[in-house]
Amino acid sequence: MTTVIENDQKSGRLEVGTPLLEVKDLHVEFHTRDGVAKAVNGVNYSVAAGETLAVLGESGSGKSVTAQTIMGILDMPPGKVTQGEILYRGQDMLKMGNEERRKIRGQKIAMIFQDALSSLNPVLSVGYQLGEMFRVHQGASKKEAKEKAIELMDRVRIPAARQRVGDYPHQFSGGMRQRIMIAMALSLEPDLIIADEPTTALDVTVQAQVMDLLAELQAEYNMGLILITHDLGVVADVADKIAVMYAGRIVETAPVHELYANPAHPYTKGLLRSIPRLDQKGQELYAIKGLPPNLLKVPTGCAFNPRCDVATDLCRTETPELHHVTDKDGKELTGRRSACHLWKETLHG
Ligand code: SF4
Repeated sequence: MTTVIENDQKSGRLEVGTPLLEVKDLHVEFHTRDGVAKAVNGVNYSVAAGETLAVLGESGSGKSVTAQTIMGILDMPPGKVTQGEILYRGQDMLKMGNEERRKIRGQKIAMIFQDALSSLNPVLSVGYQLGEMFRVHQGASKKEAKEKAIELMDRVRIPAARQRVGDYPHQFSGGMRQRIMIAMALSLEPDLIIADEPTTALDVTVQAQVMDLLAELQAEYNMGLILITHDLGVVADVADKIAVMYAGRIVETAPVHELYANPAHPYTKGLLRSIPRLDQKGQELYAIKGLPPNLLKVPTGCAFNPRCDVATDLCRTETPELHHVTDKDGKELTGRRSACHLWKETLHG
């Protein structure tokens, strides 16, 4: 039986830790002329109110396809969900009609994309675009919507919001445009924000400012946040837990600091080694050899085996399941899983 999770009656918001979104055994395929690409192959993850989940992986890992499926914005065809559930507050969104789904998208679950410039309409002022949410969804008048837009611009710390509310997207810097995207996502106070590479197009200092702002607003509004990124470096300070994806599967999950301190999968280990460090100035930066696989020709066994320095014959024939990992005394480590035949050697070696 499905349990529907209701709002906290007093605050209208869920309590921290209440399950918000649960992706269960999700499979998404793309049917192409050359065959079927299994872009998402049995993904499970969850995020609770007040929690940040970072989903990490190179391009083609399935992280963005999973997010687009959650939002209901994946082009189908060629995409097709073949199995699984996406539970939002206990209700399977995959079984909802278009209208019900549309209400959740934007109002309850909002998305922030990488490229703010192409997500914003270049011929409409940012104030108009921010205010539109209130006009369409809450029946606000033009004047009320403009005031709400200014409030939101202030909230995401855009200087001189009242003077700039009539400016167009191209008149703002990349960092400021991304703040406008965050403001837009926040406008209807969603329960959950999915941010897909929200800082990739920005320079490092602005990246940090935008991430800090997102984290601060998330804590204030008690939202869930799914942060999709290829860059382990940007999530350390903001995420609670991480799911690492490779070739459509999750290969490791862990609380963020445990994953940084001691990964249980060679792929994660490689990603961590590839982060530039100040104490290694002058040394050549490590890079994982090879490229992620073509999803039409995923290697047999562990999909990572051609790039893995410690692969064995077993790795080339048997696909490792994602299973719990334990400490040296055999005690299960909470929230930690690895899909590697050699997780023990990787974690404790
Ligand atoms: Fe490497 Fe084998 Fe582990 Fe895959 S299963 S990551 S190939 S050691």
